[in-house]
Amino acid sequence: MELTRLDSVRLRTEREEEERLSPLASKSAQSRGRRRMDEPSAVRTEFARDRDRILHSKAFRRLKYKTQVFFSPSGDHYRTRLSHTLEVAQIARTISRALRLNEDLTEAIALGHDVGHAPFGHAGEQALDQLCPGGFVHSQQSLRVLDVLERDGRGLNLTWEVRDGIAYHSKHQESISQPLMNATSTLEGAVVRISDAVAYLNADIDDAIRAGLITLDDVPTHALDALGRTHSQRIDSMVSGIISESWGVAEGIAEGGIRMGPGLLDATDALRDFMFQRVYKHPDVEREAAKARMVVSQLYTYFDNHPDELNAAMSTEDAGSEWTVCDYISGMTDRYATCMFERLFTPQPWTY
Ligand code: MG
Repeated sequence: MELTRLDSVRLRTEREEEERLSPLASKSAQSRGRRRMDEPSAVRTEFARDRDRILHSKAFRRLKYKTQVFFSPSGDHYRTRLSHTLEVAQIARTISRALRLNEDLTEAIALGHDVGHAPFGHAGEQALDQLCPGGFVHSQQSLRVLDVLERDGRGLNLTWEVRDGIAYHSKHQESISQPLMNATSTLEGAVVRISDAVAYLNADIDDAIRAGLITLDDVPTHALDALGRTHSQRIDSMVSGIISESWGVAEGIAEGGIRMGPGLLDATDALRDFMFQRVYKHPDVEREAAKARMVVSQLYTYFDNHPDELNAAMSTEDAGSEWTVCDYISGMTDRYATCMFERLFTPQPWTY
């Protein structure tokens, strides 16, 4: 192919990656590639294209109306899954840049990591896990959304590295710094995984204080002493701790994965335990979660029994598979699921 001036932009970026990034960073020119061949972009690297494809997807926009701990909050300052995703991307890019890893790959994984999340966060996920054939895990569904469901069943045809990072971003873990390299194959994927935990933990503390479920004085003192008393101090402590502890790993001169040092890790795990006891399992949160599970279960059963309505709603090549109900329900936002539930299961005003 003849080199144009635009082509030289991508080639220059690829060359810069080779020169500037750590030996263990994922270089876009060395990607394992896509399932289907795509002509290279004139300007953007392969990972930058994937980031943009995810950003422009419908599933990404739906994150605006999906929530995690507080469902469909009416207050304007609560996080949504969209703002969570952007916070993960920002934290992960900061760490990646500091460790001389590939920021474009990091950002692509971060922006896509939660697009398969069910409505009503983990409550919705639990309900679907009981009902879907073979269970339901949001990270696997994120991959399915991007591989299959987007673009009316054609998918986004992403690179192997982005798909790997998204599929393995979330393994159930006792501590946010358990060994990470056994899950995702790239250091960039490991950065997103730990950044996800940093983002949600800090955001949930902030939102739980906003919601009046806790006050800062309830938070364990030794955790605040180690991490800081403000939201920004706590994020900064964790991010700085991850960078300094993981530096040698990213450079290939130390063993292990992307992680925090023991002192910060203890403090972070203490915060996480505190949040489970006081917020995630708070009676008010549990009460709403039970309602959310009921809504998701009812919708699932309804559409399982009305395949014609389901197939009409999906209109993808994939409609009709045993996964279609799961795809449809998990793709709903909180507000769409609530409206659908009301339309199907509550008496509607009669219009003449
Ligand atoms: Mg997340």
